[in-house]
Amino acid sequence: MSIDLTNPIFNDEAAAWAHFEAIRWPDGPVCPHCGAVGAADKVIGATARPGLYRCHECVKQFTATIGTVYESSHIPMHKWMLATHLLCASKKGVSAHQLMRTLGLGSYRTAWFMAHRVREAMADHDPTPIGGKDKTVEIDETSMGKQEDALKTIAKGYNFRNVVLTLVERGGSARSFHVDGTTIAELKPAILANVERESAIMTDQASWYPEIGAEFASHDTVNHAKDEYVRREGDNLITTNTVEGFYSIFKRGMKGVYQHCKERHLHRYLAEFDFRYTNRIALGVDDTMRATRAVKGVEGKRLTYHRPRQAA
Ligand SMILES: [Zn+2]
Repeated sequence: MSIDLTNPIFNDEAAAWAHFEAIRWPDGPVCPHCGAVGAADKVIGATARPGLYRCHECVKQFTATIGTVYESSHIPMHKWMLATHLLCASKKGVSAHQLMRTLGLGSYRTAWFMAHRVREAMADHDPTPIGGKDKTVEIDETSMGKQEDALKTIAKGYNFRNVVLTLVERGGSARSFHVDGTTIAELKPAILANVERESAIMTDQASWYPEIGAEFASHDTVNHAKDEYVRREGDNLITTNTVEGFYSIFKRGMKGVYQHCKERHLHRYLAEFDFRYTNRIALGVDDTMRATRAVKGVEGKRLTYHRPRQAA
């Protein structure tokens, strides 16, 4: 992890706001009330909140957090910047307890809430299909959850354990979904909506893949049951090791760092691991660039969670 903790954006409120505003408003402040661009002045004074602007056009006041996941938060901006950088730079994630201690937050609840807002900023709500001509997408699924949880869900009449479907473009993005099961009906719509039909796809030999694979330019499989993991056919490397590698990091993070994850939040953790994978150093995205992208991702998103009763 490479974070320069002496950077003022992590400990100086004015520097943190200036950093956030530069990312959020590359062309100068944008009034959320009337849309005027670059037509506002900072409200200065002992009683003014940091980051407060007044619009020349409509005379209303605003800050850069309006319309973002930071809106209505009482948490200081430098703590948002630090939380975002930590979550972006840690390969397996950062627990809410760790965030609480590192950021000096008042409660676990506040830390948990912040982390989920950062995950929301990392989420891609308008994804375009991955893969394409001459590109390879590896597809696999894995199950999550402890055996006890499985028994509880069986008792309630649900499918056992949670199933995660992941699509990874070699040399590109990862995209994961919490699906209800491993039937063709569950998997096919997500795969067809998220992978270009011109892609070459690679899977293991699970029974549901031939029908789905027929929709793509080509479909090769490795036979894990026979201990086959990599096979070379001419220039074609047939394997699902890339997606397996993604799961290995994801599972180590979920087991070692997060430990508890309620079923209804699983998609948020998936968004976090997808984001770090998709914005990784092997693709030229370093820790600082990744954090800048996550800060940019706060726009146009709100979380519907209740606000913590007590802010940090
Ligand atoms: Zn205005």
